[in-house]
This record gives sequence, structure tokens and C-alpha cells, in this order.
Amino acid sequence: MTTLYLAVPCYNEQEVLPDTTKKLLAKMRSLIDCGKISPDSRIMYIDDGSKDSTWSIISELHEKYPLVAGLKLSRNRGHQNALYGGLMGAKRHADAVISIDADLQDDINAIDLMLEKFESGCDIVYGVRSKRDSDSLFKRATAEGFYKFLKFMGAEVVFNHADYRLMSKRAIDELEHFGEVNLFLRGIVPMLGFRTDSVEYERAERLAGKSKYPLKKMLSLAWEGVTSLSIKPIRFITVLGAAVFLVSIIMLIYSLISHFLGNTTLGWTSLIVSIWAIGGLQLLAIGIIGEYLGKIYLETKHRPRFIVDKFLK
Ligand code: UDP
Ligand code: MG
Repeated sequence: MTTLYLAVPCYNEQEVLPDTTKKLLAKMRSLIDCGKISPDSRIMYIDDGSKDSTWSIISELHEKYPLVAGLKLSRNRGHQNALYGGLMGAKRHADAVISIDADLQDDINAIDLMLEKFESGCDIVYGVRSKRDSDSLFKRATAEGFYKFLKFMGAEVVFNHADYRLMSKRAIDELEHFGEVNLFLRGIVPMLGFRTDSVEYERAERLAGKSKYPLKKMLSLAWEGVTSLSIKPIRFITVLGAAVFLVSIIMLIYSLISHFLGNTTLGWTSLIVSIWAIGGLQLLAIGIIGEYLGKIYLETKHRPRFIVDKFLK
């Protein structure tokens, strides 16, 4: 029987924890009762260095309910790192781990279907939002723009999938081989391969408390996503440099013609040509250096070159 762990990162979530626990406990108990998951399954809260009473609530819940487990990080490291810590902590005990936010905006009834897909052989099951009715217009526009921006900048992500997903123990084991420190799980998990599927659900409002992802954090997540997955911004410089250099050749022809037609001031031709040519060459040179820098950057991540799915002996 599958041992399922729910990895729930929490940062200053004292308002939502009691309610969340009630709902998650009911879900876990019903899954255990109908024999879908083993009684060793757990709801694992990861306290991401909260400043309120989050950790003491988690400890109390753990005393009261054997199904609740807790992991406390030494300080606030951000959602992605907390999640990663949770996955690594949970995989030692679990066959499958589902990551879900503490505010239960993601429909926990999708867990059943995720489990079914896991049982039928999927290693990764993405939770994908079907609608965003509950989000404000601003949040919806910025969030959807976020996915489009990432795609444009060369980072492949699953559209409208946040970090609500099921991963098998084997997939998390492979994730551990990705040596990067700048974590953007949504971009790395698709690189793992394996059999994947997705489950649609409707996103609800936050149970209580405030969003811990204000615009500033969202922008920094987007930038982290781009710079940790793609070196396309560097390529823009190279292309720009080449373009400016091309313009300089056109300018050379244009100013030579003007020069010989005699309607220029002395010195203008050489000046204007040098400005364009030197500017273009400099940009191009920066771009080329950048290309190598990008290569070095990607190399230092020590990502695995391949991941074995099956081996027939
Ligand atoms: N979170 C975290 N560390 C942080 C910020 C957020 O662990 O530094 C957790 C938070 O407790 C929640 C999840 O990340 O479980 C998502 O945050 P939130 O619901 O505020 O984001 P939103 O849904 O508004 O994008
Ligand atoms: Mg939320």
C-alpha cells in the first residue's frame, strides 16, 4: 500500500493551520479507511522559519494527532527551499509525496485522482488550475503573464501549474541529483522526465491570513525562474550587438555617400562610423563573453546528463 506524505510549507501560517489540519486530517483518514494509503502516511508541515506561533501549533498538532509530522527549518529560506527540504525529508519514509500550500487554495479533492494516476504508473502528477475565478483580476493577470514571460525567455514550465504536485520517491531521488542552489522547482521537475500526467482543479480563496507572495516576491520568483533555467537574456545581447554592427555598416555606406556628395562637416563621417562600429563591436564582444559565462553557469549546476527510467536485466 502507498505511504503518502503531504509536504506543506508554512511561513507565518498560524491563522490557517487549525483549519487546514482539520481538512487534511479528514482527507487522510478517509483515504486510509478505504485502503488507498497506508496508516504510516503523514501530513508533514515544514516551518520555514516563521516569526509567529506556527511552530508551537505544529508541535501541539503533532502531540494530538499521530498523522501530523513537523519539520522546522532554522530560518526563513523561502517557499521553494522549504518545499525542497520537505520533499527530501519526506522521501525517506514515503512512496509518494504531494506538495501543497498551507492555505489550501488548491483543491485537496484532487489528491484522490493524483493517487490513482500514481498507482497506474505515473511518477509525477501536476495539479493544473482550470480556472482562476477566485483570484483578483490583478493576481490573475500577473500570474498568467508570469507563465508567458517564462516561456518567452526560454524556461519551459507547465502552464497554470504552481507547486501542487505528486512526486514518487524515485522522482525525488533524482531531483536530489540536481546540484543547483537557485531553486525553481517548477522548471526543474519537468526536466526529470518519467511518466507524467496532470489533474485539473479549481483554485479557491486563501482560508485565512494574508498572501505571503506579494508582487515583489513574485517578480523575484519569475526572475529566478528565468536566470536559473535559461541563458536567453545573454543571447539577446549577442544578437543586439550583431544588429548594431550591421547598422554600422549601413551607416558607413550612408556617411561615405554624404561625404562624397560634399554636404557634411569635416570629421563627421569618421566620427559617426566609429561610434556605430565600436558600439556594435563592444556589445557583440560582451555577448560572446556572456555566452561563455552562461555555459560556465550551466556547467556549475552539475545537472545529471541522463536519468534511467527502466533497466531490463
Ligand atoms: N511560504 C513559505 N516561505 C515563504 C513564503 C511562503 O514556506 O517565505 C509558504 C506559505 O506558507 C504557503 C505557500 O508558501 O504555504 C504559498 O504562499 P501563499 O499562499 O502566501 O502564496 P500565494 O498563494 O498567494 O501565491
Ligand atoms: Mg496561497
